[in-house]
Amino acid sequence: MILLKNVSKYYYSKGVIATGFSKVNLEFNIGEFVAITGESGSGKSTLLNVISGLDSYEEGEMYINGEETSHYTEKDFEDYRRKYIGNIFQSFNLVNSYTVYQNIELVLLLNGAKKKDIKKKVLDLIKQVDLYRFRNTKVSKLSGGQKQRVAIARALAKNTPIIIADEPTGNLDSKSATGIIKLLSEIAKDKLVIIVTHNYEQVENYVTRKIKMHDGKILEDKIIKEVNIESSNNNNAINYQNITFLNKIRLGLRNTFNIIPKFVLLFAVYLFVVVALMSEYAAFKKEEHQASIEGYNSVFNDYSPNRIVVNKKDRTAFSDDDLNKILNNKNVVKLEKNDVMVDDYIEFTNDKDFYVTAVGHPLSSFDLELSVGRMPENDNEIIITGYKNDYYLSTLKDEIMNTDLYWRNYAFLDKNTKIRIVGISYVDYEYQNDNQVYLSEKLLNKIMTEKLTTFNNTKILFMNNYYESSPYNSYFKLVPNSKVPSGKAIINSELRWSCEYENCINKKLKIEVSNIYYEDTMELTIANTYDKNNINSLLGPVDYNLYSGSVFINDNDYQKLYNKGVYQVSIYTTDDLVTKDVASELENMGFNPLVIKDTLYNEGSQIIRIAKTIVTIMLVGTLFFISYFIIKIILKSRNVYFSTIRMLGGSKKVSKQLLIIELLTVTNLVYLLFTGFVYLNKINVLNVSFVNDMANYLKLGDYIILYLILIGMSYLISLKYAKKLFKDTVIKTLREEI
Ligand code: ADP
Ligand code: MG
Repeated sequence: MILLKNVSKYYYSKGVIATGFSKVNLEFNIGEFVAITGESGSGKSTLLNVISGLDSYEEGEMYINGEETSHYTEKDFEDYRRKYIGNIFQSFNLVNSYTVYQNIELVLLLNGAKKKDIKKKVLDLIKQVDLYRFRNTKVSKLSGGQKQRVAIARALAKNTPIIIADEPTGNLDSKSATGIIKLLSEIAKDKLVIIVTHNYEQVENYVTRKIKMHDGKILEDKIIKEVNIESSNNNNAINYQNITFLNKIRLGLRNTFNIIPKFVLLFAVYLFVVVALMSEYAAFKKEEHQASIEGYNSVFNDYSPNRIVVNKKDRTAFSDDDLNKILNNKNVVKLEKNDVMVDDYIEFTNDKDFYVTAVGHPLSSFDLELSVGRMPENDNEIIITGYKNDYYLSTLKDEIMNTDLYWRNYAFLDKNTKIRIVGISYVDYEYQNDNQVYLSEKLLNKIMTEKLTTFNNTKILFMNNYYESSPYNSYFKLVPNSKVPSGKAIINSELRWSCEYENCINKKLKIEVSNIYYEDTMELTIANTYDKNNINSLLGPVDYNLYSGSVFINDNDYQKLYNKGVYQVSIYTTDDLVTKDVASELENMGFNPLVIKDTLYNEGSQIIRIAKTIVTIMLVGTLFFISYFIIKIILKSRNVYFSTIRMLGGSKKVSKQLLIIELLTVTNLVYLLFTGFVYLNKINVLNVSFVNDMANYLKLGDYIILYLILIGMSYLISLKYAKKLFKDTVIKTLREEI
């Protein structure tokens, strides 16, 4: 059955070679009950370990069933151990956290048995070693003798042809010891049993052969009792299956929970990883977000991160229906129809020592408390908001409210319209240094229409010549004036040189307006001409020097040209975190959204962003490795378990899988707890501000990534752990931990 030819085993440690045993020649067969004796250090254990395939040998040949083993791989020895060897140790090597039943069951499960098929067998074995009463007791609670009986039952459960027992009675009192020996001798009838003992007297009545070792050599090899030796090399080992998937899960789950402190510790570490990882990640996203709303661009003044500029994809004007559709979105809080005004300042001045610039809004949208003054009562009265410590608005407020102001449009001062600030509302913060002004619809409309001309290309066709009209210079600038009759225009008398007979009255003037939304033309008749002297009687208080080249047309005609409806609006969302979502909803509804924060350009933040990304990656990496090492330390306590599994013939693969199941169970529990907790906060059952703040920045994808990281970490740990565990021979890992 087993044949050793000149086999030697050496230990190399710290540069010294120690002999385990040398040049041993032995043959063992089924039916024998062999006792090996010898003083301590004579090589008995080493010999048993080599025979068991738990340890390697350096020299000679070992045959198993006639097969030479020098070419055996670790996997071959695993198979060999599983099929042939049942080990019993002085120190039992049981799984202490398992019950008696579970310890014995473990071997059978590892060998592919179905759980329901083995119950009777396990109980029979327990009865055989007389521990039925203790079948559900944890092994750690048993006495030494009882433990060794469990170990024997376990060895029997494997049903291997060879049982190898290294000082099985070494830790037992003599009464228990005798019991164990008796048990082993009964087994020996159809097996090969090899037992190492210090106490030969204890076994001499039972054994069939005695081997004495001294200093790594066989000193004596004596047959005590002739037995019917089965020397044939027929393979009487049972071929086992692999552990079933279901049983792997079972064992994995059992291992997860059966050592409570270990479970709690693992759980705590994973929880730490999850919370730290997620809060760090959320903090990063928050900063990213903050950075995304900082920056500048030259087109817009209002950079509000929750602002979206919207027009229609077909470039037509908004209908009331369109506007309602937008306002129906629950994340839209405000809609500014006067989009041009949002990015523009209106300037008011007394043309002497005071001027104020402010962003214009319709009076109807004023929702603050007035600090000073009253609400407007006519179209030319306005209210203004500004910083409470602003010198003009606070200290000089009375003077300012008693001053006539004019609206200035580029160089042109509209002296026709006298404006009064009648109320002021102070704000506590100096937000963007902006003042806000609230005007009547009529005044706002007038100002807005003139602002709109900036977005238009306006040409005037007069006496076969085209003239460009622009708000920046007075030459051929179109100016609305209420004194001009509808359909008429009043031009400078100097232009008579281009008219026949120097008379321009009743001549035609054609205006062509085009912008990104529409084109329009209007034909007017010259009603009159003005010069320095008659300008005021014709047109009211107009400064000739400023307006010397202007073409004056009727107010309403002017509105018709430039104010055809709402083509572009600005909307504001409840929160800048939802802005992008709202934009894509608008997009789907046929609108053309422009998210203002996306237009911001911020060169500095780009570098900071990269740096922050690196820092975050490093932090997450550090966190990962700290946790990784803590988990590894915790897992050290599992060495005994996995060495035992290995000793029983469980493969590397199975050990790894059992560990993965164990870690994944904890991972999933922690993950479930975490996401459950976040969810309870989201639906407002709980209200932990830290969690809420974090959850705001986490999207579904982030949760999935976190989950994958956790799984990956568990997998990596299992992999590394198994690799380390299986690097050494079984006996080394076993010995190290006991
Ligand atoms: P026994 O079981 O008979 O007491 P062992 O087989 O344990 O003896 O040891 C045999 C010899 O091998 C001893 O000299 C011992 O010091 C040496 N030995 C055993 N294990 C190791 C080891 N892991 N490293 C170095 N030497 C060892
Ligand atoms: Mg020993």
